[in-house]
Amino acid sequence: MRYAVISDIHSNLEALEAVLADIEDSGIRDIIFIGDAVGYGPSPNECTEMLSERCKALVAGNHDWAVIGLSDASFFNEYARRAVEWTSEVIEEKNKEILRSMPLTDEDKKRDAFFVHATPRRPEEWSYLLNLWDAELNFYSFEEKVCFIGHSHQPFIVEKVPSGEVVTHTESVRIKGDSRYIINAGSVGQPRDGDPRACFAVVDDDRVKIVRIPYDIEKVQEKMRQELLPNPLIERLAAGR
Ligand code: ZN
Repeated sequence: MRYAVISDIHSNLEALEAVLADIEDSGIRDIIFIGDAVGYGPSPNECTEMLSERCKALVAGNHDWAVIGLSDASFFNEYARRAVEWTSEVIEEKNKEILRSMPLTDEDKKRDAFFVHATPRRPEEWSYLLNLWDAELNFYSFEEKVCFIGHSHQPFIVEKVPSGEVVTHTESVRIKGDSRYIINAGSVGQPRDGDPRACFAVVDDDRVKIVRIPYDIEKVQEKMRQELLPNPLIERLAAGR
């Protein structure tokens, strides 16, 4: 029952390669991708292709939808919107087709797990699950034991214990028989929790943990400069903000 969950790659090939190498080294074969293959970064084609080759399931994110015209990029901030426009120009048709084929949610009955980019409750609204009240509400919107999300680029683990109380964990937790969980897998390609290393989640039998992996940030930044992507997007990678 070992598998990895990766989210928010955002066209960062160097971070994606580092994460996939680490997953392979640890002998994990099944990878679930939960949205935002593209947006912000310089390598949308390479990342989309690699995800479709390596992942067992792929779920759509709001940047993926914006690039293929399924959601309105006018809700994005200026830099995100410019990156979406740039991505729409450079992405190949076959990779747009991959983005179009990704559903909003996915369930794995065998693993008793649900996968969605933003929130299990009304996933097409791309809301942020940021506090325990949001978490409590969202536990009613999926049936499985575990739900994986991304979107905020901030990893966390929320556990709902049998009494109904909701508690948080930061790095790792043992999956107990009578609890349910919402786990934010963090972001591979643009972490925002102050740690610039690539972030993802691993389920190892009855334990789930958040994993951090260093990658060549300067190389991505150089590619972004060459493509004239907005400076704040380049600088934030080194800060992890
Ligand atoms: Zn994202």
